[in-house]
Amino acid sequence: MTTNIKHLISQMTLEEKAGLCSGLDFWHTKGIERLGIPSVMVTDGPHGLRKQAESADHLGLHNSVPATCFPSAAGLASSWNRELIRRVGEALGRECQAEDVAVLLGPGANIKRSPLNGRNFEYFSEDPYLSSEMAANHIQGVQSQGVGTSLKHFAANNQEHRRMSTDAVIDERTLREIYLASFEGAVKQSQPWSVMCSYNRVNGEYASESETLLTRILRDEWGFEGFVVSDWGAVNERVKALQAGLELEMPSSGGIGDAKIVAAVNSGELSMETLDLAVERLLNFIGKRTENRMENASFDPGEHHRLAREVARESMVLLKNEDSLLPLAQEGKIAIIGEFAKKPRYQGGGSSHVNPTKLDDAFAELQAVAGASASFQYAQGYELGSDEINEELLREAREAALQSEVAVLFLGLPDRYESEGYDRSHLSLPASHIALIEAVAEVQENLIVVLSNGSPVEMPWLGKTKAVLEGYLGGQAFGGAVADLLFGAVSPSGKLAETFPVKLSDNPSFLNFPGEGDKVEYKEGLFVGYRYYDKKELEPLFPFGFGLSYTEFEYSDLVLDKTGISDTETVHVSVTIKNTGSRAGQEIVQLYVSDIESSFIRPLQELKGFQKVALQPGEAREVSFTLNKRAFAYYNIGLRDWHVESGTFRIGVGASSRDIRLNATLEVASTTEIAVSFHRNTTVGDLLDNPLTAETAKKFSSIFGLESAMEDNPEMFLAMMKYMPLRAMIGFGQGKYTEADLAQDLSELNALVAAK
Ligand code: BGC
Repeated sequence: MTTNIKHLISQMTLEEKAGLCSGLDFWHTKGIERLGIPSVMVTDGPHGLRKQAESADHLGLHNSVPATCFPSAAGLASSWNRELIRRVGEALGRECQAEDVAVLLGPGANIKRSPLNGRNFEYFSEDPYLSSEMAANHIQGVQSQGVGTSLKHFAANNQEHRRMSTDAVIDERTLREIYLASFEGAVKQSQPWSVMCSYNRVNGEYASESETLLTRILRDEWGFEGFVVSDWGAVNERVKALQAGLELEMPSSGGIGDAKIVAAVNSGELSMETLDLAVERLLNFIGKRTENRMENASFDPGEHHRLAREVARESMVLLKNEDSLLPLAQEGKIAIIGEFAKKPRYQGGGSSHVNPTKLDDAFAELQAVAGASASFQYAQGYELGSDEINEELLREAREAALQSEVAVLFLGLPDRYESEGYDRSHLSLPASHIALIEAVAEVQENLIVVLSNGSPVEMPWLGKTKAVLEGYLGGQAFGGAVADLLFGAVSPSGKLAETFPVKLSDNPSFLNFPGEGDKVEYKEGLFVGYRYYDKKELEPLFPFGFGLSYTEFEYSDLVLDKTGISDTETVHVSVTIKNTGSRAGQEIVQLYVSDIESSFIRPLQELKGFQKVALQPGEAREVSFTLNKRAFAYYNIGLRDWHVESGTFRIGVGASSRDIRLNATLEVASTTEIAVSFHRNTTVGDLLDNPLTAETAKKFSSIFGLESAMEDNPEMFLAMMKYMPLRAMIGFGQGKYTEADLAQDLSELNALVAAK
């Protein structure tokens, strides 16, 4: 294909241009043979390749070519390991090259607003910074192999309930600080080849038709250079979508969308320039694909399986480990209970569903890792296909547990409990799994639970277990990774990328999820995840950032290279972490920023940095962070920009959001003046708050004839006057203060602040 794109466009007919803006079929763009433009393939995504051969669908119903199934995003994010996620991306890129795929449809950067979202397993976190960092590294990894990504689902696709029609109503600040920020960081850092717009509406407008989202924010503000593709079937009105900035409609519209574009150009409704620009962006992509395509590419499935095991180990979170029951000794009698031990739940349902190259059986892997001195017994415990409690299976499980020194229960959510396409309605494990815990706990106190689920579950049974390993959806090497962790070949090093609530109703979105009819209002605003639990002083079951290890870490020497900065400068933060235990391990060091005093409503603390550090016993290392304006800023809707309120900020460094080990403070000075102007309804308090106008405000005491009150108790007097609008002085002043005085004051006050 020639690289002279402008020349190519000049040779294309209107029909060919319109045709390029929608798919050929489910997974391909259209080629134009006479101009040498090839058809290229895009496919799911995100944590494994789902390339379908013959029959195609977008819900993962039909089989696809074998590909490595890595842990899904919920687990990947729990690793907090940028470098590891980049390696996963590289492996995915190699598999795409081997299968001649131009774009892998992912990663997903939607925020986990509610643990009920059926698709949470595909998303990284409740925190936008963590989510965007994970997405950025995934993208960089895939794209380093000459394969594109499609960052999805842009934007505010935070539930499956009525996902194709619901309207997410979100205030601007929340949208910017939480939901868009997760995409923003990834776009700015990694420049994905494409962004996939979501199905839903955002504040009344379909995402696919939102010029604000697809052009003004994504391109003009964030500098996105790729193309926008619709989620499969997300186009409502084709012409409106094209005008908003949606270049590629997928899958094929069967010619309907193309015909609408042609008609709109002919009628003058759509300009040829708009269409040409879309075509140019698509040709740029196809050209990039052609240049980067590797003929005869291949990958080593064995190598990728080993990587999947390493990743799964880092994705699991040790939530409880009473009496240091774990790691297990490599000898003795061990009961392995629960059908998941032999038939793992290792991935989620829907479009991300992968046909794995290989699948570990946890029971076999546990035996392989433990070696000959341990003896194992297996009991099924429950039937995967049903929630019914099976007394006979419980009896067998009790028997196996009784004859062993320890019982490991493999539990979790069966496939039907969570999937793309619908949400969960509760956070419980199946009744048969809970009954199994209770039955085994009667005869065996050394009880370990290994969970397979894509999103939090309630754990009213926690007190009956000594240890809990959250395995998430661990991918095809789930079994091997669990064996490595249970027997201590490596220490667990994952930490939660989301809060586990004690109960569903504790979750901040509870009162407004999934909304009424086709409208869901995000009334909790900024207070998503830990931002809410912190501010409400609500104890979660397990907090954001929490995870145990087999070793211990000590934090010391928190040092800032400056005591104060302006918001155009950066500050360098360093801290020393030491492994004080007797095993090798990795610690995830987290940095949270708090605005100590703010005139805006802000979360108590927000994650603004993290590093994962590997340490041998006794080893210490310095970990460092660089913070810029964004770490201190909130989104100012008046300025339509990020803004820092001058003042003192606290920097807390610790092992989880609820385990801050060291604190320091920093002064940050804003370089942006927010223009103030006073008007009739400015309050006396507004004047008092401004050092330039505070003195003038005090004169209003005389209008009331209350100079003595002002002298006797100025604080009380001013507090009472605070909410009085200036125009009210006229009435209360009973002739002492006139419209003319007010006009005169306003002009003087405004001159005063304008001169500054
Ligand atoms: C999903 C996308 C997916 C697409 C193609 C849609 O239903 O929401 O995540 O990439 O189908 O399978």
